[in-house]
Amino acid sequence: MNIFSISVFLILTVCIILGEVWLADNPGEVTVYWRGYRIDTSVAIILHVVAFLIAVVALAYRFWSALRRAPQQIRLRRQLRRERRGYDALSQGLIAAAAGDSTGALRQAKKAGVLLSSPPIAKLLTAQAAELTGDKNVAREHYQALADDPQTALLGIRGLLEQARNAGNSEEALRLADEAYRLRPDAEGLLEQRLELQIEGNYWEDAEATVQEAVNRKEMDAEDGAKRRAVMMFEQARLAMLSQENERALSLLQTATKLHPQFIAGQMKLAEQLGAINKARRASRIIEKCWATTPHPNLAAVYRALEPELDALAQVKRFESLFECNPGHVESHLALAEAALAAELWGQARTHLVKVSESRITPRLCRLMATLEEAQCQDRDKAQHWLAQTAMAEPDMAWLCRSCGAESETWQVRCSNCGFFNGIFWGKPPKVARLSRNGSDHLIQDLPG
Ligand SMILES: [Zn+2]
Repeated sequence: MNIFSISVFLILTVCIILGEVWLADNPGEVTVYWRGYRIDTSVAIILHVVAFLIAVVALAYRFWSALRRAPQQIRLRRQLRRERRGYDALSQGLIAAAAGDSTGALRQAKKAGVLLSSPPIAKLLTAQAAELTGDKNVAREHYQALADDPQTALLGIRGLLEQARNAGNSEEALRLADEAYRLRPDAEGLLEQRLELQIEGNYWEDAEATVQEAVNRKEMDAEDGAKRRAVMMFEQARLAMLSQENERALSLLQTATKLHPQFIAGQMKLAEQLGAINKARRASRIIEKCWATTPHPNLAAVYRALEPELDALAQVKRFESLFECNPGHVESHLALAEAALAAELWGQARTHLVKVSESRITPRLCRLMATLEEAQCQDRDKAQHWLAQTAMAEPDMAWLCRSCGAESETWQVRCSNCGFFNGIFWGKPPKVARLSRNGSDHLIQDLPG
């Protein structure tokens, strides 16, 4: 009771006492004639009788309305009890699912579904518990029910999407990801999931648009986005080249190399494409520019192939210009040595190979030295000596997959061994040497740092 109620109660009590006192002082007289009877009484008695009758009627009315509301109250109480049991089952089901008890989770989910008239959370729990027990059909049925309800559509679609991905159905997964994206483009992780599926399905143009969207939404760093788009354009250009769409391939490669100028495979492909449409000089300039910063054996090979009609001596002249773009680099020496070997300029080839051998001995150098010894001096012993060294030499740099470590001949958008996207890099492969210890063979692997 608060102060206000106490005050009202006190005021009312005082009023009643004052009223009773006043009535006692002024009792008055009332005479009633009714059907031959005469009743003589006071005004106070009449007032008390009236007050008593009002109280009786009020009590009777309250009793009657309580009686009238009783069935509804009983129904409400029963419903509340049922809901409490439903939510208890739901929480027990969630605990069971989290603990990996799929049977318990499914039992509680069914119970919650019945008690709570299948609210979305019970459907979701049933679907997830069914997934745990491996009952894909029940899970799909419940995800579908969630997907059909506009309020829980996203939840259901994402459940179906996960199912499709786990079943390896990328096309269906992508369709569902697009549907989910239309519903809620800002849903957590959806853009990334969609991008993965687009890449998986080789939908490069769509993937490019998704990357741009991620950059616009600040979910991806702009530089990272540009690099990814360049890689996607490279793949589109490669496919365009296969179907003789030369102009399209060229335009894609030009944009890709503008987006990511350090993308050596892109620059290489651009030079190759320019060479294919008789623009060898422009292609050579691109390679020379790249050579100044990142000399690479694949670049040298493209450079050589740009003017195939030239004789070996003319090629040496070209490679001398390339050498001048980055004179101190090992790759410059190796590229010029190879050109000199082809032109039978033994002295020039030897000068450059010796220069390389001062810094490191690799299988590639060993093979070139062996060729030189055999071609210049017909010295088979020396050639054999160089070839024998290849096994122990420091490995040549190669295109490696950062996911599975497999080596590939050229840069590719996807690893041909494990399919990993954009994971091929130019690096030093692990050195594997076979040593004999206590009569048994051991493989010693030296992983690059
Ligand atoms: Zn791989």
